[in-house]
Amino acid sequence: MKFIIPDSFEIAGRTYEVKYVKKCTDCSDDVTGQVRYGAGVVELVKNIEDCDDATNVVFFHELVHSILFAMRENPRHDEKFVSRFAELLYQAIKTMEKEENNG
Ligand SMILES: [Zn+2]
Repeated sequence: MKFIIPDSFEIAGRTYEVKYVKKCTDCSDDVTGQVRYGAGVVELVKNIEDCDDATNVVFFHELVHSILFAMRENPRHDEKFVSRFAELLYQAIKTMEKEENNG
């Protein structure tokens, strides 16, 4: 299934807008994405050299952060957990197949 990054999404009543930026707000240059919970914004740094996969993985990473935020779980958001979860979730979605006449 080809995944297309949405313009916005909602989690637990909070709407997040996805914005492409040259640099994430108040971050160092090497940061490729962040969630601004208060503003309801997911910032993604999109370079022309980036393949879709790279940007999609960053999107999923920020999505997992926003889910954990809504769940009030794991308040410090273990980055290793977030990255691995995001990669595997994206892999599952990317490889999903559905035949027209199957159920
Ligand atoms: Zn992170």
